[in-house]
Amino acid sequence: MSSPEPSPATQPLLGATEIRRLAEEIGVRPTKTLGQNFVIDGNTIRRIVAAANVDPGETVLEVGPGLGSLTLGLLDAAKHVVAVEIDPVLAAKLPETIAAFRPELTGNIDVVLSDAMRVLELPAEPTALVANLPYNVAVPVVLHLLEHFPSLQHGLVMVQDEVADRMVAGPGSKTYGVPSVKGAWYSEMRKAGVIGMNVFWPAPKISSGLVAFTRREPPVTRATREQVFAVIDAAFAQRRKTLRAALAGWAGGAADAEIYLRKAGVDPSARGETIDVAAYARIAEAKLPFTA
Ligand code: SAM
Repeated sequence: MSSPEPSPATQPLLGATEIRRLAEEIGVRPTKTLGQNFVIDGNTIRRIVAAANVDPGETVLEVGPGLGSLTLGLLDAAKHVVAVEIDPVLAAKLPETIAAFRPELTGNIDVVLSDAMRVLELPAEPTALVANLPYNVAVPVVLHLLEHFPSLQHGLVMVQDEVADRMVAGPGSKTYGVPSVKGAWYSEMRKAGVIGMNVFWPAPKISSGLVAFTRREPPVTRATREQVFAVIDAAFAQRRKTLRAALAGWAGGAADAEIYLRKAGVDPSARGETIDVAAYARIAEAKLPFTA
């Protein structure tokens, strides 16, 4: 009688010993510049994969596979993984690691050596983004990918906990800012947990947060995404000021800013941190010439 297939929960994942050995084999010394903090705890990987709600038929985009901790968990859960890594030494090692730990799944991955903030083409169409992101570029990476890969329908990313709070914040909250509004243009974002420092090597100095998102249609508007984002950038460049004052430069004067704000149904004395993405879209539209 043949032994039953091991369930994903019993498949070996990378622990501290394996991570250090793999790093040593290729002479990798984790760098801060590339946000290299590798997960050394299988339970954390299982938690991330479970929270990501990946369907077995899905193609998952992973940014920064590093030494492969999360990649192995994703290969167990999904049909295919596209892994985008900027570090050529790590990218070259990954297929070997998969061959060693998941020999039966080596055909289920594409490793792409690229900067995830700039990548415009992928070998397969991913429907989910699941990643332990390099912390210093987490928000621009997520926004770039949501903009350029409309096939991405949902995802789960690990970022610095305070960045997670900013990404999921709503209008009126202290942490509401550019990442919250721009993120809301593409998706509904929610906090999916906090991860301590000790599950990483090297251990970061701050906790991490999980952000889950589901894509939604952007607000209906005649303004382009770029036009709406220009208003958001202007409003938060001077977040303590009223929108009338903060948008003066964008509008060509405070009086014009007031006209556009009133046309958009927004109180000119309100601050940018109190209005939602749909209001930003209405402000951008209010400045456009009228077309029948
Ligand atoms: N996924 C691995 C894990 O959980 O152990 C590693 C996560 S580590 C926080 C971030 C990874 O992103 C590193 O492997 C780093 O080399 C890679 N990275 C940094 N900047 C990147 C970029 N702009 N594009 C793609 N990968 C990047």
